[in-house]
Amino acid sequence: MTPADLEFDQRHIWHPYTSMTQPLPTYPVVSAQGVMLKLADGRQLVDGMSSWWAAIHGYNHPTLNQAAIEQIGQMSHVMFGGITHPPAIALARQLVAITPEALECVFLADSGSVAVEVALKMAMQYWQARGEKRQKMLTLRHGYHGDTFGAMAVCDPQNSMHSLYQGYLPQHLFAPAPQCRFDQPWDAADIAPFSALLAEHHRDIAAVILEPVVQGAGGMRIYHPEYLRQVRQLCDGYGILLIADEIATGFGRTGKLFACEHAGISPDILCVGKALTGGYMTLSATLTTRQVANTISNGEAGCFMHGPTFMGNPLACAVASASLSLLAENHWQQQVRAIEQQLTVELAPLRQHPAVADVRVLGAIGVVEMCQPVDMARLQQHFVAQGVWIRPFGKLIYLMPPYIISAKQLSQLTQAIAASLAEE
Ligand code: PMP
Repeated sequence: MTPADLEFDQRHIWHPYTSMTQPLPTYPVVSAQGVMLKLADGRQLVDGMSSWWAAIHGYNHPTLNQAAIEQIGQMSHVMFGGITHPPAIALARQLVAITPEALECVFLADSGSVAVEVALKMAMQYWQARGEKRQKMLTLRHGYHGDTFGAMAVCDPQNSMHSLYQGYLPQHLFAPAPQCRFDQPWDAADIAPFSALLAEHHRDIAAVILEPVVQGAGGMRIYHPEYLRQVRQLCDGYGILLIADEIATGFGRTGKLFACEHAGISPDILCVGKALTGGYMTLSATLTTRQVANTISNGEAGCFMHGPTFMGNPLACAVASASLSLLAENHWQQQVRAIEQQLTVELAPLRQHPAVADVRVLGAIGVVEMCQPVDMARLQQHFVAQGVWIRPFGKLIYLMPPYIISAKQLSQLTQAIAASLAEE
């Protein structure tokens, strides 16, 4: 990669949440192997991000490579309208088998945001088919569900700057974010505001949508599973659908295969994405119950009204299927537990630092919340100089490494965070 390439990148290519006039620096990565990202100048960085929750098995994995190569030899893509194929069937079988028992109908979509759009549309069509026009969603502050309009409308209104789209975005209902932490005793008062909103508006609410136990991009907050259990109970009481967005938490990240398992509950609609393909390519899925699927199908439209061009992309499905098999073979529970123990030991002392507001760990997620927003460009530079890839945002410096990370590599990540605090 030449300096001219990087200049072109700065001038012509949007990166996530960046400015075209004052773009943040980007680091050229030319290859990745296991837990290491290789920069164009030959430096190697230990990856602490799993490419945003996705690359759980690490990069360039021989099994996933093989699955992709074999599938390319058959077909990369074929339309899903009127056609089906072995990779979609194999993947849907696996998803139905590993997700809560009641979820048996699978919609394969393109990305996390689209999986959320599909879930919201399912909820609306469900009520439409029952002869009720219910279009309100109830969700939690500090939530994040994606950047498309439907998904954004249920993201935290401040974080996702709803003010920019005023008059265009649908207005939903927001309960305060849960306050009771995962590691605290349950406080019954925590559910009261949610419960009150539901009591007041239940006749208009189509569904509750939330991220179970871990609120990710909206603040990396880890809340008490009892909150989720009571949400399920309340939804059942009012006959309201519960959508669990496990796009970030799914596939073992929190120490359970799905975060809903911490509360022993099953949602009516489940969204998965990110790690679904082991981080190889974009694919997501929205699963629902037979009852919801049948109700939608018997409604006015006679079908579920969604069908993207690349639905069920065979290449993505083949890799996802191989990734789920790998997850089953790879003892992810032990891997995630070991990461959790090490993160707990190595991050806990940082709590004493005056610039640190909080440290929290669950599964293979470690969060250091600072008192003030960090200088992202400067901190990123520090991390790269330390040989690690950690991408902070807002007040949050956090780790979610690939499950295959070694103890030594994980220590490199935690030490780099500790060293950055020493510079404060
Ligand atoms: N839901 C959650 C919980 C997420 O964390 C994300 C992505 N950060 C999304 C939805 C959106 O997924 P995507 O970026 O693939 O559209």
